[in-house]
Amino acid sequence: MMREALIDLGAISGNVENLRAAVGGMTSMVVVKANGYGHGATQSARAAVAGGADWLGVVDIDEALELRAAGIQTPVLAWLHDPDQDFAEAIAARIDLGVSYLEQLDRVAAASGTGQIHLKVDTGLGRNGAAPGDWAALFDAAAAHERAGRIVVRGIFSHLAGVSDTDQVASFEQALAEAAATGLTPELVHLAASGAALDVPNSRFDMVRFGVAAYGLSPYSGGSHPAVSLTPAMQLSGAVVSAKRVKAGTGVSYGHEHVVPRDTTLALIPLGYGDGIPRHGSGAGPISIKGKRYTVAGRVAMDQVVVDVGDDDVAVGDRAIFFGDPATGVPSADDWAEACGTINYEIVTRIGNRVVRRYTS
Ligand SMILES: *Cc1c(COP(=O)(O)O)cnc(C)c1O
Repeated sequence: MMREALIDLGAISGNVENLRAAVGGMTSMVVVKANGYGHGATQSARAAVAGGADWLGVVDIDEALELRAAGIQTPVLAWLHDPDQDFAEAIAARIDLGVSYLEQLDRVAAASGTGQIHLKVDTGLGRNGAAPGDWAALFDAAAAHERAGRIVVRGIFSHLAGVSDTDQVASFEQALAEAAATGLTPELVHLAASGAALDVPNSRFDMVRFGVAAYGLSPYSGGSHPAVSLTPAMQLSGAVVSAKRVKAGTGVSYGHEHVVPRDTTLALIPLGYGDGIPRHGSGAGPISIKGKRYTVAGRVAMDQVVVDVGDDDVAVGDRAIFFGDPATGVPSADDWAEACGTINYEIVTRIGNRVVRRYTS
């Protein structure tokens, strides 16, 4: 396989099991947005459910419909919608809908069927969700629609700007109090994503939402690791497609940022920024071949990178591993994130369509 992301579905199931145990077995959503953080949405969803996920989370309705089309019947929540969204299809497919503002609420209420909604409040992230000044009007309108049988308010939720944001927990509690005052009695109040779910017990409420941790990656930037056993589920590799001897002084890749200091072997791997390898990994990203770690030589191109392997015995057909489970001695997604000045989330999520996903259980 020229370019391969090997996905360990057993790792995803095991991670979800361990994460759920870490929060006392409480109701847990696993987020499979953006193609399951690059791991494959439907496959990741099934593995998560096998590990005990009670809910699935996605960003948009198309992602939720993809799960339904694959026969996945687990409750699913979608929370970011097209301004012109027709909600009828989602309601018919029993997709719960995050609702952030009045006009959106009215559209869901007007759609055929009875929409199950989760009201989204902005408690300080400054993204989606109703601003504090708009909570009362949104809650009043939702309560009225619910009394009229047009919707069911199943949840209220928000999302944190940082793991230990106690101000946001307090703001969220204020929103819950205002909602209760309008007569709303949502069964699922939820706030915490991976980081807060593990670290901030008073952010857990009725359900936690695990994203990156379900795929075996740390939710903390800077590479520190949660106190729960997680196995990275994705191993990204490419075949060495060319290996040749060159003379000292040979320049490598665009701009000749790497010039080989001695006669050497250059190995070519067919993954580049077109496959999601950050160009910031030029001269920096780690790659392991036959158990030895090298660094990308020169610039990452659209379709390929070069590794200067010296006199090591590297030949066409050998596998070059970009990242995987560091317990197996290969670089991690965190190593790549650090080399590229980004976060592990971005490293796995960007992996493109030319990379073949192969699944093991
Ligand atoms: C992506 C997302 C999550 C999951 O976040 P992680 O940090 O990956 O656990 C949870 N909730 C919402 C609203 C999200 O957008």
